[in-house]
Amino acid sequence: ARVAVALHGVAGYLGGDNFVIAFPVQDQTDRQTLTERFERELTTYDVAEGFAPSAGVVVTDDLTTSMAILYDRALVALQEVKGSYTKHVAIYDELRHERERENQMLLIRAREGLSAHEFAFYLQPKVDIQTNKVVSAEALVRWIHGGEVVPPFKFIGLMEETGYIYALDRYVWEAVCAWQRSLVNRGLTPVPVSVNVSRVDFYFTDLAEHFAQLVDRYDLPTSLLGIEVTESAYSEDADFVNDVIRRMQGKGFVVYMDDFGSGYSSLNMLRSVSVDVLKMDKGFIDQASTDGDPDAIISSVISMAHRMGLPVISEGVETEDQRDSLRAMGCDFVQGYYYYRPMPVEEFERILREGDNVER
Ligand code: C2E
Ligand code: CA
Ligand code: CA
Repeated sequence: ARVAVALHGVAGYLGGDNFVIAFPVQDQTDRQTLTERFERELTTYDVAEGFAPSAGVVVTDDLTTSMAILYDRALVALQEVKGSYTKHVAIYDELRHERERENQMLLIRAREGLSAHEFAFYLQPKVDIQTNKVVSAEALVRWIHGGEVVPPFKFIGLMEETGYIYALDRYVWEAVCAWQRSLVNRGLTPVPVSVNVSRVDFYFTDLAEHFAQLVDRYDLPTSLLGIEVTESAYSEDADFVNDVIRRMQGKGFVVYMDDFGSGYSSLNMLRSVSVDVLKMDKGFIDQASTDGDPDAIISSVISMAHRMGLPVISEGVETEDQRDSLRAMGCDFVQGYYYYRPMPVEEFERILREGDNVER
């Protein structure tokens, strides 16, 4: 309250250990200094046992803002420090809450988009590095919203935070199976297509059972559906995840370790996980053109994988040079713009129908 008064503001006591403070400022830039000043002030109240005051602070340069709105914002700020032992003060952050509001709106629109069938998948071929022919493809989700194609990085992370990803993924997996079935029905010969599994999905259902029922429902052989599990899922709860994966493999699904090398995993981790194919993260390829001797790293990943009987796919191959050096290092497959970008299913169907560039 002393600081609040010094700053020509008002302070309110909400009961318990909780305070709210509002005061005017000329400009809103120096939040750090303000926070530190409040922290100092609060800690001088040599916190008596059982009393740990915390304050939600709102500052404004607009003196017409109503007290009710300022109070709401101070409460939002207070929520941030409630229960924290190290932070006692938070200042309402307009930009951050604006972003959070936008994210919430995005999630609501995505939820509506899912029921309105605005989500589709593109296909990106995986190519045999020796023959340059398509051996399989990966399904990559796209949100067709307001005439635009929204890329996954805009919404996947947000959906993972809220668990909503599971609904989206189920939708994509099913759409892929339905499409594979329609190919067969139209007399085309399909190739295996892999789908992405978020680490979050493992905690929603028994994925092995889920995928088995799915291919069963569409009367497809399990070999036509690949499953890409990102490296970080493996490291999160290794025993549990490996058990699910082993059961998927037992049912005949091909399991890919996605993004290998993007996190903290080591070559050694490969010994303890179950996986059928290794997908080397794009980061490896990108480094190859800059850092010291990354080729040495790439070759040791490839030879280690081969020693364990795992074929290797390189992601994000964009140039002929990259392809050539990967080929020289014994890489088996590539997926990247150099060969094909992700494309709508109709375009991929043309490749299948023509057949010349497909390896069966
Ligand atoms: P990912 O699984 O590693 O997929 C590969 C990404 O690399 C795709 O991005 C693809 O378009 C991009 N890519 C392929 N070749 C090249 C290349 O030569 N150069 C460059 N710069 N990029 C290349 P996309 O489609 O934007 O997807 C990004 C990520 O979003 C995916 O990374 C995957 O983690 C996630 N994602 C995509 N679809 C789904 C889905 O249905 N479910 C879940 N849970 N995640 C998905
Ligand atoms: Ca993937
Ligand atoms: Ca990847």
